[in-house]
Amino acid sequence: MKPIVAIVGRPNVGKSTLFNKLVGDRVAIVDNQPGVTRDRLYRETEWCGTEFVLVDTGGLEPRNNDFMMANIKKQAEVAMNEADVILFVVDGKAGVTALDEEVAYLLRKKNKHVILCVNKIDNFQAQLEDTYDFWGLGFEDLAPVSAEHKVNLGDMLDTVVEHINKLEMPEEEEGIKIALIGRPNAGKSSLTNRLLGEERSIVSDIAGTTRDSIDSSFVHNDEKYVLIDTAGIRRKSKIEEDLEYYSVLRAIKSIKRADVCFLLLDGKDGLTEQDKRIAGIAHEEQKPLVIVVNKWDIVEKETKTMHKMREYLRVELPFLSYAPIEFVSALTGQRTLKLIDHVDLIHAEYHKRVSTGLLNTVLKEAMVLNAPPTRKGRVIKVNYCSQVSSAPPKFVIFCNHPELLHFSYIRYIENKFREAFGFEGCPLTFVVNKKG
Ligand code: GDP
Ligand code: GDP
Repeated sequence: MKPIVAIVGRPNVGKSTLFNKLVGDRVAIVDNQPGVTRDRLYRETEWCGTEFVLVDTGGLEPRNNDFMMANIKKQAEVAMNEADVILFVVDGKAGVTALDEEVAYLLRKKNKHVILCVNKIDNFQAQLEDTYDFWGLGFEDLAPVSAEHKVNLGDMLDTVVEHINKLEMPEEEEGIKIALIGRPNAGKSSLTNRLLGEERSIVSDIAGTTRDSIDSSFVHNDEKYVLIDTAGIRRKSKIEEDLEYYSVLRAIKSIKRADVCFLLLDGKDGLTEQDKRIAGIAHEEQKPLVIVVNKWDIVEKETKTMHKMREYLRVELPFLSYAPIEFVSALTGQRTLKLIDHVDLIHAEYHKRVSTGLLNTVLKEAMVLNAPPTRKGRVIKVNYCSQVSSAPPKFVIFCNHPELLHFSYIRYIENKFREAFGFEGCPLTFVVNKKG
């Protein structure tokens, strides 16, 4: 469970510059799958051995002036509820603005670790006086920095790490951890209540010490399950509901801790960008997932409605082709317990290991049916394959010209492995290494 450090502040103060400099060259996993929304919303990073997740989702909000003020304030409030440390960025050249003061007021209200980051101090000697006014915002930690020129970022990170090391991280509860993700009104809260209510043996609410998140657990067929962040799901404030920033921040936190994710969709509506973005995070984090089409009770059904919905989802979410799709109603309880069967299955699949012998039998058969295409006049030979890890399942393919082995051929092998071994609900990773 890595701490969350959120960057907040009004537009143009240098938030994304700071984000980019701090995550540096940590390039995301190259993923050629079509349809994955790849915003740079968050990255894992570390400083002096302390790891954390840096979040900059400011870019998600409209920059229309009418909404700007309100949005920045909302964002600050959400960051305050959800993040462990906040980097509040202001523009040292522009001086203190009214909006900075309002955000500062919100951030001071709660007992959270806030570091006031006075940016654009490119010339420390000449501009030192520019920073004095900012002490008036009332934060103990003030870091004059230049994101662009990477000045003083180390000192600022030292302060971040100092705060992180003071956090008390809650103990993780035993059991299979399930994250319910999806946009507001998809039915996360209703499904949570349904799953907890269905089972008599609710164990306890598990309170995080310094965090506001509370998990709940239940037992089904002697197996224990933990629903992640039930408090966050149930907490409904107007602020959070219409703010994409909130659902994304919540999703990042929950997905990272999850063993299995439920992507909840409203069966009455089509998919939105927000659904895809959240789905993309689960995929990027390589977590197993069930697509849950909720509110099936009020969907008008004609012939093949379910079938058509399936096809639609497969087209719209091509990168989740491995995820089972279930149609439920949190309201009536229709098929909700079936979701637990999915969890059991895909959790086991996620931890499965296939022997090298079996893998290579299937690999050979696949190559007999369809040999790797010659490229640039060279014959490509795939020698063998091995599963190097489970949870998430990862495979290494040995090949004479790894750089020439086309992505689509790897997809072909992946499909053959899935036909032979299942791995339902699980993303699979392939690495190609050189071997003559
Ligand atoms: P955001 O809207 O808060 O994410 O701000 P951006 O990161 O997009 O930066 C806004 C502008 O400020 C850009 O033109 C940046 O090049 C500039 N900027 C960012 N950091 C610095 C800095 O440390 N010094 C100076 N002089 N300009 C900066
Ligand atoms: P959340 O924001 O994702 O937690 O969504 P909620 O659980 O609060 O549900 C949003 C609205 O949809 C509420 O009015 C629920 O009563 C309704 N709702 C949730 N699940 C179902 C369902 O399966 N069928 C119907 N008809 N309504 C549902």
